[in-house]
Amino acid sequence: MTPLLPKAHLHLHLMGSIRPSTYAELGGEAAFPERYGSWEEFVAAYRATKDVLRRPDDLHRLVVELVADSAADGAVWTEVSISPSGRHRALTGSDEATMEIVCDAVTAAGAPGGVVVGIDRERDAADPDRMALLAAAWAGRGVVGLGIAGDETAPIAPFGRAAEVAHDAGLLVVPHSGELCGPESIREDLRVVRPDRLMHGVRAVEDPELVRELADRGITLDVGISSNVALGVVPDLASHPLPDLVRAGVPCSVNADDTLLFGTGLAHEYELARRLGLTDAELAAVARASVVGSAAPASVREVLRP
Ligand SMILES: [Zn+2]
Repeated sequence: MTPLLPKAHLHLHLMGSIRPSTYAELGGEAAFPERYGSWEEFVAAYRATKDVLRRPDDLHRLVVELVADSAADGAVWTEVSISPSGRHRALTGSDEATMEIVCDAVTAAGAPGGVVVGIDRERDAADPDRMALLAAAWAGRGVVGLGIAGDETAPIAPFGRAAEVAHDAGLLVVPHSGELCGPESIREDLRVVRPDRLMHGVRAVEDPELVRELADRGITLDVGISSNVALGVVPDLASHPLPDLVRAGVPCSVNADDTLLFGTGLAHEYELARRLGLTDAELAAVARASVVGSAAPASVREVLRP
């Protein structure tokens, strides 16, 4: 029954989630390890996937396939994270052109979804509001959220105003937090950007008071089980804290994060959650939390009706 649970796929990066056959067809040659030796090794692998992009049409194709694959795994709603600056800008000519391609592609995919515009904590520090202004300009035209990704040890403080711009535009603010850094860093992210959800957030489990706060405030954690294992955030699958977080009442979604780089998919992540011991009722609660915490419109949320 697991793949049939109506669920939302919320933590999914476009360039880490190229369909394997498409990656090969576009000339991608890298093989991806089961475990990455370091964060730097992972980031290098992530950046290298952009080498396969030759034409703006390639970008369109990747988005369409990603949303379609997510829907085939049971997602009634998919949020695609994309960082428009850097290589995409060189490919399409401008951030505006990138947004047009990506938002068009989500609409063309034939399954409901939206775009999360990502800030890179290091790369975008020199111009910290730029991505938020871009995201706000595309609110209502496909963009549903502002993400913050990259090295969590880089300061969050410069992005406080960007988060306010996003909140004011009605976008969800969904930073990566509690993956590389622990509870103190999560607390700072909560203060500085007032997030609606946290991508990962799993290291909150190190601090029971913080776990209670996340549960009380209903802040959803967009967990990636395979991702956490591959990057050594947890020593092995059996040690993953998802069951503890769910049983403490924290809303959790499960997600691929990067389907290509971690060799996973949405349905597989639900299988892993089951392997961690989540009951049918707990899996259903995870699926429900993913839809509740998403930016999906009322027409999609109909699936929550008993
Ligand atoms: Zn991520």
